[in-house]
Amino acid sequence: MRKLVILILCCSGSFCVSAQTTIQRDPQIEKMVNSVSKDSLESYIRKMVSYGTRNTLSTQTDPKRGIGAARVWVLSKFNEFAQQSGGRLTAMIDTTTLQKDGRRVDTTLLLGNVVATLKGTDTADKRIFMISGHLDNMRTNVMDRTGDAPGANDDASGVAAVLESARIMCRSSFPATVVFVAFSGEEQGLLGANYMSEKARRQNWNIEALLNNDIMGSNNSNETNLINNTKIRVFSEAFSIQDTGRAAQNIRNLGLENDGKARQLARYIKEVGERYVDNLEIVMVYRNDRFLRGGDHTPFVNRGYAAVRITEMNENYYHQHQDVRMENGIQYGDLPEFMDFEYLRKNTAMNLCNLANLAKAPSMPQEVKVETKRLTNFTNLTWKAPATGTVKGYYILMRETTSAVWQKKIFTTDTKADLPYSKDNFFFAVQSVGADGNESLPVIPVPAGR
Ligand SMILES: [Zn+2]
Repeated sequence: MRKLVILILCCSGSFCVSAQTTIQRDPQIEKMVNSVSKDSLESYIRKMVSYGTRNTLSTQTDPKRGIGAARVWVLSKFNEFAQQSGGRLTAMIDTTTLQKDGRRVDTTLLLGNVVATLKGTDTADKRIFMISGHLDNMRTNVMDRTGDAPGANDDASGVAAVLESARIMCRSSFPATVVFVAFSGEEQGLLGANYMSEKARRQNWNIEALLNNDIMGSNNSNETNLINNTKIRVFSEAFSIQDTGRAAQNIRNLGLENDGKARQLARYIKEVGERYVDNLEIVMVYRNDRFLRGGDHTPFVNRGYAAVRITEMNENYYHQHQDVRMENGIQYGDLPEFMDFEYLRKNTAMNLCNLANLAKAPSMPQEVKVETKRLTNFTNLTWKAPATGTVKGYYILMRETTSAVWQKKIFTTDTKADLPYSKDNFFFAVQSVGADGNESLPVIPVPAGR
């Protein structure tokens, strides 16, 4: 094997105490990360709060109040950023008309997601990487469309991260396409995400990753009074709802219950996020969402896409889905004064570096296989070059079966590897690596010759 370099990956597991961490940052991405501004994020949030309520059922005709005015403002921000994009960023309000559903929609409703698309420069590259948050919000009563609902954290924080990522990323070009979305109708039953994911499936969009940000800019919990602005959670399901029949059998046979699309994406987000963002630990939670709760990534997950939910470490329920009021000396309501904009800056940066790294990277290697014809204590891997992008080489990833994160990352310029580690005891995967070191999502090998 030619040129073999082994990097020991950072991991928080107990068996990695001795190794130093090698951090190699792409200067272009580092520059983008450094451009994330907490002042911009704060200004976006205060502006969104200024619309009084952004309940999905609220007015769409008042120029200063309600969801209609708020989404026009989000569109205007995308259009303002687009002027720096050399014509590559385009934005629209993607609308659909919904009828009463007997649940959280009690009138005919024009629902609108605000969507900005940063077109990839490689026309052969069909990959789409998405970031989202939801623009709508709610009071204690989700049907109350007139009273004040600031929604600073839930989820102006997510939309602010979307806007700031668009502002910075649209000044650079990427081979793959990046889509920035402010959903509507989340609190009314994930309506905007459901509409968009259905459309994506029908039109065969190749969404390789969706980073859905919902409640990510406040640092403390009520009741337990935990305070933390150095950790962020990434929720990922184990495997897809579409993993049935033979696919499910394969997962059981190979022990891949921890290597589904969303989980693999979460692992990638952790590695790349911690590479670029200082003082931030990305905590993987092995669940699609918080206990018995949902978010806009779920309709995408349910249609077979790799989608995760990104949420702050500790939630404060005095400030979530609450009418603004004082009660027993406690201030309720989702107000900007409870935000930690420096924490939101880091959480936005972690989204941005992941999107940029994914969109810059070549596509995934193809036909990644592990040789199984004879019994051996080696692991023999083969693969083929990706369909799009130029590779300078590949990373072979490995980890013990009980490890949450990849532990070794082996660089090679070859398209095969004979590793003196038993496939009985480790998981392996292969990533394509571009000229500036940006890696694709990993591919788990399938058994060859079976
Ligand atoms: Zn939310």
